[in-house]
Amino acid sequence: MSERQQQTDIILIGAGIMSATLGTLLKELAPDWNISVFEKLGKAGEESSNEWNNAGTGHAALCELNYTVEKPDGSVDISKAIQINEQFQLSMQFWSYLVNNKLIRNPQDFIMPLPHMSMVQGEKDVAFLKKRFEAMSGNPLFEGMEFSDDPEKLKEWIPLIMHNRQANEQIAATKIDTGTDVNFGALTRNLFEHLEHHNVKLNYNHTVNHIKRKNDGSWELKIRNDKGIVERHSAKFVFIGGGGGSLHLLQKSGIPEGKRIGGFPVSGIFMVCNNPEVVEQHHAKVYGKAKVGAPPMSVPHLDTRFIDNKKSLLFGPFAGFSPKFLKNGSMFDLITSVKPNNLTTMLAAGAKNIPLTKYLIEQVLQSKEKRMNELREFIPNAKIEDWDLVVAGQRVQVIKDTQAGGKGTLQFGTEVISAADGSIAALLGASPGASTAVHVMLEVMKRCFPQRINEWEQKIKEMIPSYGLSLLKNPELLREVHASTSEALGLHANAPKQAAREALSV
Ligand SMILES: Cc1cc2nc3c(=O)[nH]c(=O)nc-3n(C[C@H](O)[C@H](O)[C@H](O)COP(=O)(O)OP(=O)(O)OC[C@H]3O[C@@H](n4cnc5c(N)ncnc54)[C@H](O)[C@@H]3O)c2cc1C
Repeated sequence: MSERQQQTDIILIGAGIMSATLGTLLKELAPDWNISVFEKLGKAGEESSNEWNNAGTGHAALCELNYTVEKPDGSVDISKAIQINEQFQLSMQFWSYLVNNKLIRNPQDFIMPLPHMSMVQGEKDVAFLKKRFEAMSGNPLFEGMEFSDDPEKLKEWIPLIMHNRQANEQIAATKIDTGTDVNFGALTRNLFEHLEHHNVKLNYNHTVNHIKRKNDGSWELKIRNDKGIVERHSAKFVFIGGGGGSLHLLQKSGIPEGKRIGGFPVSGIFMVCNNPEVVEQHHAKVYGKAKVGAPPMSVPHLDTRFIDNKKSLLFGPFAGFSPKFLKNGSMFDLITSVKPNNLTTMLAAGAKNIPLTKYLIEQVLQSKEKRMNELREFIPNAKIEDWDLVVAGQRVQVIKDTQAGGKGTLQFGTEVISAADGSIAALLGASPGASTAVHVMLEVMKRCFPQRINEWEQKIKEMIPSYGLSLLKNPELLREVHASTSEALGLHANAPKQAAREALSV
């Protein structure tokens, strides 16, 4: 087997939404830098970023109940919802910049306006939803949110969900028309197409097997190419955007910041409706409440999706357990991620999370009929023959020792791990995920290019006007950002159905 050696400025590992976003940002800020991408699969956006592997929610905290918690005094804390909404606005501004400058194609290929709704049943949850609505609706970030517990109003909003319900059922919902459905797979492919036209070298069917620091501080990667030949590529900066594959690669880099970290894989399954008549009766993303003992990423939701110019209807995700870290990963991923430096962290996490693991294994073993029963909490007369199961992506949750949670604490967010000298960074975790890719990649840039970030600030502000500012504290800017992004991305809040019809008729 022969070996080839090559040198470049930047290497991005993995062709998912994160590498796509970082590559696109860097191309705008430092167009002369040479960038190479190595992806083990044959195409971009085939793992978690693929449209069928995630729920496609533009997470702006408009409907996800797990971002707003009830405090012991009964009030509702919306600080996390504010943070996520502000982060999503960064993505919207960057995508608008790319569309306005014709760097990516037709926005309706990847983003569609869609009402975001929260729906709850039973007296206690209805009272919570009302309080949550009161806490959010006065906030400019969530302007336009409506609440209703009137069955007639709810029939107008969600006819499929309200059909065949008992008159005495207590049910309430909030609705906001400025939500979105995002096809992150299409967006990822769109971004890589743009990068390919701007001298970025995309290498598919190339698996990164080893990462080693060289004496001059740069990094050398051993990569098995599409012909089985091992190549060596070096770069001054490496981004590990391998999704579930990132933890193993981070461990191989040997950086101290990557020690005592483990991963806990959670798989996902959706139900997809195959009956166009049923699909037509729903037009929203409707998020419910997670079951007791369920992890936050298994909050059930019934979603209209726009994929390949076709309207679909998905329900789920049902979380489950699989030892794989990627959908196309290995059954040994979990066991091989246990190293001497994270052994006690992993053992502590294992002991703490026995109920969660049990819950996830039970979920995997659920029959289709049992899953239908969960769906029938949303659509009372759902028929089994109208729904098929599809396996979604894997999410690898970070396990680490924290002050608040102690040894082996399971994290449900996203974490950037970088070397002290900023020469390598990895992204772990997957929530809120693709929606906040721009925020997370700006964080990578701040950490890894501190000497450049001031020089880049003006250009970043040109691309993302709210960069470094709070939209909540700048209502005028918020109005401008809402207006300019909905114009650029074709999201007219008052006519979401019209936009959907137009996009589907092409
Ligand atoms: C069930 C589910 C639902 C979700 N719903 C949402 C949602 O509604 N909204 C949202 O914003 N986010 C959602 N997410 C999260 C979102 O999908 C992820 O955060 C995002 O796609 C991660 O992007 P990525 O680029 O980090 O990883 P990926 O898209 O997984 O890409 C990583 C790439 O790296 C490649 N790779 C891995 N190892 C190697 C290696 N050694 N060498 C070369 N290449 C390698 C992989 O093949 C892959 O192509 C969801 C995720 C799941 C699983």
